[in-house]
Amino acid sequence: MIMNPAEIEKLGINSTGTIHYNLSYDELIDHELKNGECEQANNGAMMVDTGIFTGRSPKDKYFVNQDPSNKYIAWGNVNQPTTKEVFDDLFQNVTGQLSGKDLYVMDLFTGASEASKRNVRFVSEIAWQAHFVKNMFIRPLKKELEGFSPDFTVLNACKTVNENYENQDLHSEVFIIFNIEENIAIIGGTWYGGEMKKGIFSMMNYWLPLEDKLSMHCSANVGKAGDTALFFGLSGTGKTTLSTDPERALIGDDEHGWDDDGIFNFEGGCYAKVINLDAKNEPEIYGAICKDALLENVVADADGNVDYEDGSKTENTRVSYPIEHIVNHEPSLQAGHPENIIFLTADAFGILPPVSKLSKEQAMYYFLSGYTAKVAGTERGITEPVATFSACFGEAFLPLHPTVYAKLLGEKIDKHGVNVYLVNTGWTGGGYGVGKRMSIKDTRACINAILDGSINSGEFNTTKTFRLKVPKTLGSIKPEVLNPRTAWADKEAFDTSRDTLAEMFIENFKKYQGLEGNFDYSEAGPKVGS
Ligand code: ATP
Ligand code: MN
Repeated sequence: MIMNPAEIEKLGINSTGTIHYNLSYDELIDHELKNGECEQANNGAMMVDTGIFTGRSPKDKYFVNQDPSNKYIAWGNVNQPTTKEVFDDLFQNVTGQLSGKDLYVMDLFTGASEASKRNVRFVSEIAWQAHFVKNMFIRPLKKELEGFSPDFTVLNACKTVNENYENQDLHSEVFIIFNIEENIAIIGGTWYGGEMKKGIFSMMNYWLPLEDKLSMHCSANVGKAGDTALFFGLSGTGKTTLSTDPERALIGDDEHGWDDDGIFNFEGGCYAKVINLDAKNEPEIYGAICKDALLENVVADADGNVDYEDGSKTENTRVSYPIEHIVNHEPSLQAGHPENIIFLTADAFGILPPVSKLSKEQAMYYFLSGYTAKVAGTERGITEPVATFSACFGEAFLPLHPTVYAKLLGEKIDKHGVNVYLVNTGWTGGGYGVGKRMSIKDTRACINAILDGSINSGEFNTTKTFRLKVPKTLGSIKPEVLNPRTAWADKEAFDTSRDTLAEMFIENFKKYQGLEGNFDYSEAGPKVGS
């Protein structure tokens, strides 16, 4: 299809170059090779190096502080304000950069539900970036492109940097700025595609709750009986890995909405981590890496064989692919109200049990806490895990206050009688450096027991301090794995670590005490000495 250049001119871009509009995969691959942007792996996937940035730049993300959105935005470190003047200034840089260039324009959808769908237009100079958004967002049919009018436009001028940032009170040469009132975002200084993906996610997290719909950082799948499961979790906790299940149809691996009709994916593709990807452990994801997939920052040999164990460019090696690459996916990208919700956490302290059943109050507590633990950079010899608390398991993408999302989730859990579980995909038998990561096999066994209901047929123990309900036995999982204290050789070390972690939870939760609307679920949290 051809795009009318007036569509680009009205953005203030002087469009004397060629506009490559909604190219097919084959056309994109041709451009990527011709432009020297990518190489092709021997599995058919394209490989790109994303440049200096191999992850997002959260400190460079801003919203324009203006009426009326400024009344709703929860301003702070996550949602930093900038002015309309700064936006207009940088908008000039961006349109100047894109003027006179050959451009790649992609018109796509976010939100699989008709009632929540938004039209999004991406403009970039780089073919692989068009490829990335084509993989990640919902691809319109040809007839849906007729008369397509964007609800939101992303202008990606990654080649421009902002030298004037200090005078503008910005953090660096990189900028990702959202202008909600004008329905435009501008990007400069970073080539990383995740800014476009998570940028639109942030917008959905703004729009939907204002319509009383819940937006969520979670993956989702549905069983043959129509039972839906959601998997919440911060980065690296297993949303993508665990929702990709040969026995259950994949709805989506990262971003969903939940309205009165059920749940729906925001996206049309997946974005999987590929560091140490193993064909035996994760055959569906391994198999999805073929033509049309786009690998990022991986290392391959001269024959195009990818070495997934090589993290020399970054540990955050990734692949994006359209969801159709997962054979067992649900084409509507929608499903009914969930029966089970699983909170994933990768607890590198090795304290939380591999699976526990949460009360409603505990569910709210762990949702607002949004805990996981990262392993600190080993290059400096640090082996201590670092606790991360990110509300709703995705605070970095939430323009509104976390309690807005928590309130909606709580109402839906009550209304639909949803069971909620906490699953630790992190360490067992000791913290990082002593214990080891839970096997994917054991984690899957816990999840299967949740999904087939068998977890509820046995008895539960209640742990000390965290007071979590843990099944006494669970299928093939060794009882010593089910109870983390038993799994540790050094019980005293366990008790000390457990209390340290409990104190971190308690300290973090103080911000929810005394808030309007009573979000003080601290009674459901850990209590040291009990
Ligand atoms: P993001 O939000 O960044 O996309 P994610 O929650 O989707 O993160 P995954 O991509 O699923 O996280 O990453 C989980 C990683 O941890 C994978 O590389 C997976 O192979 C590895 N892993 C190791 N052990 C486990 C386990 N027990 N459960 C789940 N994943 C595990
Ligand atoms: Mn993921």
